[in-house]
Amino acid sequence: MRLLGTVLAAAAGGGVLASAMHTVPAVSALGPLRRTTMPQLSGMGDTAHVALTFDDGPDPASTPAFLEALDRLGWKATFFMLGSMAAAAPGLAREVAAAGHEIALHGGTHHYHIARSPKWVANDLARGYDQLGAITGQRCSWHRPPYGVLSGATLATCRRLGLRAVLWDAWGRDWRHEATPSSVLSDLSSELRGGSTLLLHDSDCTSAPGSWRSALGALEPLAAHLELLGLRTGPLRDHAG
Ligand SMILES: [Zn+2]
Repeated sequence: MRLLGTVLAAAAGGGVLASAMHTVPAVSALGPLRRTTMPQLSGMGDTAHVALTFDDGPDPASTPAFLEALDRLGWKATFFMLGSMAAAAPGLAREVAAAGHEIALHGGTHHYHIARSPKWVANDLARGYDQLGAITGQRCSWHRPPYGVLSGATLATCRRLGLRAVLWDAWGRDWRHEATPSSVLSDLSSELRGGSTLLLHDSDCTSAPGSWRSALGALEPLAAHLELLGLRTGPLRDHAG
C-alpha cells in the first residue's frame, strides 16, 4: 500500500499515466467515504458481522502462524492470494483451503493495474484465477486488486471471470515498518463497525520486512474488541447483508 499516494499523485499530475484513461483509482482511498458512496465495493455486509480478510499470501514464513491463531480463535477468514505465491507454496495454499478458509484472488502477480495495459491486467488475473483454482480446488468468487487500485480492465476482467471486486472499509495499516499490534488494533477499531470488511496481510512480500507480526499480534485483542461490540467474524462468503 505504501506506494499508493505516489501513484495517485502521478496519475493526477499527468506524465506516463495520463494516457491511462480507463482508470478509476480514486475509489481505493478514503474508506469511510467509500463506505457510504460505494458500500458493495467497500465490502459492507451484515451489520451483526465483520469480514476478516488477508492479502498477499500464502507465505511459508508467516501464513502458518496466522492459520494457528485463527484456529485458536475459531475464526474463518478470506485469503486474497497471489497466484505467484500459491505456485511457490502450493501445499500451504491447499492447507489454507483445507482449514475451511475462503480463497480469493488478489492477482497473478502484485502490480498496479493502472500502470499496465488492459490486456496485461486480463492475462494476469486469468492466470491467477486458474492457478488458485487448480492448486486449492476452490473457485474464487472475489477479487481485490493490488494496492486496492482498480482500472476499467480490472472490472471488465472480473465480469468475465465471474468475480466480484471488493476492497475494504477498515484497515490495520499493518504493512508499515512502524506498525505494532496495538497500532493495528487502533487503526482497525477507529473505522470498523457492524458490516465492515477488515484488511490485514498474512505476508510481508510487498511490505516492510517482518510487518506481518503486527497483524498477527493484533488478532487476539481484535477478538476481544469484537466481542465487546457483539460482532461475529467470518469470511466474505458469510458476510452478505
Ligand atoms: Zn497486496
